[in-house]
Amino acid sequence: MRMYVCGPTVYNYVHIGNARVFVFYDIVERYLRFLGYQVERVMNFTDVDDKIIVKANEEKTESIAISEKYITAFLEDMIALKVNPPKVAPKVTDHIPEIIKLIEGLIANHSAYISNDGEVFFSVRGFKDYGKLSGKNIDDLISGARVQADEKKRDPLDFSLWKPQKNPSEPSWDSPWGKGRPGWHIECSAMSMKYLGQSFDIHGGGMDLIHPHHENEIAQSEAFTHRPFAKYWLHSNMLTFNAEKMSKSLGNIMLTRDFIKKYSGEVLRYFLLSGHYRSTIDYSEQHIREVQSALHRFYTALSKAELAASTASVAPASPSAEETKVAEFGKDFDAKWKEAMDEDLNTAKVIGLVFEYVRFMNAYIDRKGFKATHQTQTICRQFVDSFKKLSQVLNIFGENPTHFLNQLRASVLEERNIKLSDLNDKIRIRTEARAKKDFATSDNIRDNLLSQGIELRDLPSGTDWDILFKN
Ligand SMILES: [Zn+2]
Repeated sequence: MRMYVCGPTVYNYVHIGNARVFVFYDIVERYLRFLGYQVERVMNFTDVDDKIIVKANEEKTESIAISEKYITAFLEDMIALKVNPPKVAPKVTDHIPEIIKLIEGLIANHSAYISNDGEVFFSVRGFKDYGKLSGKNIDDLISGARVQADEKKRDPLDFSLWKPQKNPSEPSWDSPWGKGRPGWHIECSAMSMKYLGQSFDIHGGGMDLIHPHHENEIAQSEAFTHRPFAKYWLHSNMLTFNAEKMSKSLGNIMLTRDFIKKYSGEVLRYFLLSGHYRSTIDYSEQHIREVQSALHRFYTALSKAELAASTASVAPASPSAEETKVAEFGKDFDAKWKEAMDEDLNTAKVIGLVFEYVRFMNAYIDRKGFKATHQTQTICRQFVDSFKKLSQVLNIFGENPTHFLNQLRASVLEERNIKLSDLNDKIRIRTEARAKKDFATSDNIRDNLLSQGIELRDLPSGTDWDILFKN
């Protein structure tokens, strides 16, 4: 499976809405591999662009310094998000000769033309299939869109393939049309064709790229090759922020790195996979608390199941009705989540199935008189093994439970402004009070902590605590 994904324009840190795109294509690749396909994923870096030039001017530095800084930052964020790196991550600035060759071909076959000042435009009306991806027709686009009249263009919809240099501080390259730089759309045609061939299987990106970017990519590629460009197009939807669009101008951006620092990569991945990729997901603190609570339930179940699976068991007895039910759910679980993934990669449905299973398991393990038996061991091992397999595809649910739960507890304490040292002091004072049979003090401390969402559990080994979530 040859797959091309439009990558970031590197002039800023990526926010969690941008991250959604890259987590999604990571899942597409993982699932295809799980099904036995070989996958070649190519993702570009747009490292020459007006936004990068503006930022470089603001910071009184070169474009290249800006793009290199944010490429490094992007790669760090993707590692923290456990996104597999693409096989090739080409940069525009390394592919100027390929881009020039493609533009020359388009001029030669009359799909593109040169204006007086050396700007090269693609002639949209010359490509009869224009609009086939977005389902828009050319006349609607002209009347509906904010297409600026430009006397250099033969038609307002024509878009730039090569831009002449406006001032000497801009990055530029020599070309048959003078010094300049490529327009945005042409880079993806040049780089995808170089690494994946003139026709390939999957092209992806965010939904906001359908028009004009992807429509333009199809037009210029197919006008050049006279062959179908990509067989399948996948577009992932946006993230909203308290039901509003996440955008820099609205000031409601949550950066990927800030989110991961505050919560964790696992929490972000789970959150981004909790909705179907074609639907929007709304970010709110309440939604993140629900994610934390869900992962807390899951890793608690996994931790108990791992322990029960490794405990020495006694001889088999006939299974109870409950045991039969949990074992059956576990047996069908793999087939069920695969069916959900085959249904247009419905990760939201997969997560729903996970929590059905977790509910069964928690009820089963927590029931009174739970003992390690041959059956419990089989049921718990099945649960543990199921998640080893599912985590290959989703790359969540695969952390060490103790490590994950400790980290989650620490971050929730911080959000609730509770210091771990204060909590430990209170537990110590309560233990001393209990030893002196001062139950009034002991109960007081317990109730006070409970009101802050912390539950104490008195075990033979001492007092343990855990966080509670109010959903
Ligand atoms: Zn692109």
